[in-house]
Amino acid sequence: MRPHFVSGPLSSTRAARLLPLPGRDQDGRRGPEETGNGARTTPARKRVPRPSHPAAHPPAPAVPELNWEETETGIDLGLSTYAVLRGRKIASPKFFRRQEKKLKRAQRKLSRCEKGSSNRRKAKLAVAKIHARIADKRRDFIEQETTRIVRESQAVYLEDLNVKGMGSKKGKRAKSVHDRSLGMFARALEAKCARYGRGFAKVDRFFPSTQMCSACGSIEGPKGLEGLRVRSWTCSCGAVHDRDVNAEINIRREGKRLLAAGRAER
Ligand SMILES: [Zn+2]
Repeated sequence: MRPHFVSGPLSSTRAARLLPLPGRDQDGRRGPEETGNGARTTPARKRVPRPSHPAAHPPAPAVPELNWEETETGIDLGLSTYAVLRGRKIASPKFFRRQEKKLKRAQRKLSRCEKGSSNRRKAKLAVAKIHARIADKRRDFIEQETTRIVRESQAVYLEDLNVKGMGSKKGKRAKSVHDRSLGMFARALEAKCARYGRGFAKVDRFFPSTQMCSACGSIEGPKGLEGLRVRSWTCSCGAVHDRDVNAEINIRREGKRLLAAGRAER
């Protein structure tokens, strides 16, 4: 309890001083809005201005047109490697996997807390904070990577989300955070291509980009879940393929064909 020693008429400043501090009641006790460690009970993310706000997206500046043949790229999105592009790969950020673990732990803790208890409130806040952190990082990562791709490619051919390996145990665990981020990545990339006038086409997920030999067109490459582990293979035509490089070539070729045929947007 805060001591109040007041004599004589109240000046306005004195009166103000007697009013409870924000978050405290008349006796100076902490109210329900404040917990012992100063953490807010409302999720912090509500108060942070989102970069996705319209103000964060000024009109698109013109980007120089690039040589189509030289810079167009196929993109294969996946689990072990985030994205395979022409001549480079984007590694999966370790961040997602790490936060996934933290989230699981926090959610387990939350489920053990008694309803209506203050521990439950704290656990809820912890879960909300992790979700917010993941969302922020994911947004940054996607923003950064899609910007780079659009800057250096005149056309982008994206394999429509193949859920390679999603049936496996490993895949299932990765699904919640990682898979959602792949969908967001694909949408952001498509939007950016439209915005900056880059060519864009989606290649059907059943297109055998991995199994097809980019040299002779026969379909005898690695298949299914076992195929996920195959890094390189030799076609009967004699061509030796890096699995990812071969897939990108096939996606690029197919995307280019679709775009030329004007069927890409369907
Ligand atoms: Zn071949």
